[in-house]
Amino acid sequence: MRYLTKSKFNLSIECPTKLYYSSIIEYASLKESNEFLHALAEGGYQVAELAKCYYRDRDQDHDDLQGIDNEVALIKTSELLNKDSIIIFEAAIKYENLFLRADILVKRHNSIKLIEIKSKSYDISKPFIGKKGGIDSNWRPYLYDIAFQKYVLQKALPDKNIAAYLMLVDKSVICPTDGLNQKFKINKTESGGIKIIKSQNTTDEDLSVRLIKEFSVDDIIQKIFVDEKIYNGMSFDEFIKFISSFFSEDQKIPPILGSKCRDCEFKIVNEDQVIGLKSGFKECWREVAGFSEEDFKQPTVLDVWDLRSKDKLIPQGVYKMSQLTEEDINPAPDGDTGFSRRERQWIQIKKVKNNDDSVEMDKVGLQSEINNWVFPFHFIDFETTRVPIPFHKGHRPNHGIAFQFSHHILYENGVIEHAGQYINSQIGYHPNIDFVRELRKQLIVDNGTIFMYSNHENAFLNEICLEMLSSSEDISDKSDLLNFIKSITKSKNDSKEKWVGERCMVDLLEVVKRYYYDPLTNGSNSIKKVFPAILKRSEFLRKKYSRPIYGTVNGIKSLNFSNKAWLLEKDGIIVDPYSQLDPIFPDMNCSEDDLERLLDADQLKDGSGAMIAYARMQFTEMCDIERQAIVNALLRYCELDTLAMVMIVEAWLAILKKPNN
Ligand code: SF4
Repeated sequence: MRYLTKSKFNLSIECPTKLYYSSIIEYASLKESNEFLHALAEGGYQVAELAKCYYRDRDQDHDDLQGIDNEVALIKTSELLNKDSIIIFEAAIKYENLFLRADILVKRHNSIKLIEIKSKSYDISKPFIGKKGGIDSNWRPYLYDIAFQKYVLQKALPDKNIAAYLMLVDKSVICPTDGLNQKFKINKTESGGIKIIKSQNTTDEDLSVRLIKEFSVDDIIQKIFVDEKIYNGMSFDEFIKFISSFFSEDQKIPPILGSKCRDCEFKIVNEDQVIGLKSGFKECWREVAGFSEEDFKQPTVLDVWDLRSKDKLIPQGVYKMSQLTEEDINPAPDGDTGFSRRERQWIQIKKVKNNDDSVEMDKVGLQSEINNWVFPFHFIDFETTRVPIPFHKGHRPNHGIAFQFSHHILYENGVIEHAGQYINSQIGYHPNIDFVRELRKQLIVDNGTIFMYSNHENAFLNEICLEMLSSSEDISDKSDLLNFIKSITKSKNDSKEKWVGERCMVDLLEVVKRYYYDPLTNGSNSIKKVFPAILKRSEFLRKKYSRPIYGTVNGIKSLNFSNKAWLLEKDGIIVDPYSQLDPIFPDMNCSEDDLERLLDADQLKDGSGAMIAYARMQFTEMCDIERQAIVNALLRYCELDTLAMVMIVEAWLAILKKPNN
């Protein structure tokens, strides 16, 4: 029998049309093909294993049905539920065509505790309810998920009292032991699925503090059942019946287009990778917006940078960027130099409307910004991650880990060097202090301006600052490191202590947004889009980097490349430098573009290929050769990120004709 599972229900909450595409094998899906990467990014499997350990240790009888086929698990669950008292992991429950595997069921007499485990952190001071009294939108998908499970369980076992809980990472507690994280590993199966390597050796001390806790959600679920309108004015019950009937008849729920389509997993960017498969996205837009193949080549409202009115415009039939008017955007200045957000949006749209692919630049504004910068310029980029189960005793869950940086210098005479880098690949090692120590060593040699791309570096150094302040560890150079961090950062808005460092880092992303727009980026300000665009545009860069000068004794010093010409042409088209690198995951059918979109769509804000690679080195079993290949790939990616920043600035200096060029 085909079941409407909880993952299909969750997809239907995002968009009911996805239910059909996810059920028909001919539709390519970005998510399904990358289950393993997703598991690494979320850390959910490890959290679930740790949660089970808390229950396994109880006196109560327990049984784990993980890995058992659904039909067999249904029979087993029904047998186990005949016992008066039992804990079941991965219990199988069905009602008509609705089906679920519950993370944990705890049965005592006539009562059942239904527990759903998530790797998301819960802050007890901020309940699931938002400011206006409704459900907090960040929690809505998780609450709907457990509401679906309670709904099915109540229908399947109407004579039982069901109490529902979310089991979430508690950020307020401290990990009691070292190395707990390493006791939970996952591996990839040959088919790309996930194989969990169960921990056999957790100690009483490991489990003495619960890092994951149960939070009752019955009241909120009641609110969802009674008050919430899930889709087109339908109640929860009506919505389940609605999707269930379409599902059982293999019918597609008619699509309603909206901003959600931007990150739809059925929108396949690289169609070469899915030959023979269909694009659900195209089918929806053909059906509703009447799009032809030609229309798909044109920019849509989904592409307008940071446009927050998409869900108002799309239902009015405004699909293409060329349909937008000045009134839709209201491009007013905001009082600061350079382009305001709305002005920048209108620049993007106007260029599409006028078929104008020239760069828009506020040269006066950019020049006055550059006049504040001090040579030599330092360009840094961090790679970081968070893990729900800490590596070390004394750390809180989801503690930030800074595991890699790259550092380029551009001198006033135009000389460039890849001056330094840091990477930790040691399993279970907490690198933050070494990371800052090495960064300080490389940056205190002069007083030049330091550049980052986005506020990420500032935010992470703030976090490490707090970590050191609360640490009881004996760090001999603690005050030097703290002073260094404060000298190059500004404090976070919610920080008790306020500061702006005398050498505070410049955010190049903000400079791009305020002063520079290139239509080749199609509205994206990601360095992965801005850099290849500027490389194509700049005569200076094209001339300089078409020669193999990168990684040479008399050219540009590099730590990971030799004799490299970055400006390569294939069939008359300039090859994106990022695509010239070896993939971080050669065994996976996933481009960096796909990976970023996949992670963005799931609000994993720190998501990046590097983060996943780090997780893979820490949480999966691999040999030294595989590990070294990942380290080499990471070093090259990070070096290219800081080189990209150098080249963006070089191109601007050339345009503005600074004397050093
Ligand atoms: S393209 Fe839009 S309407 Fe179609 S399935 Fe994806 S999100 Fe839903």
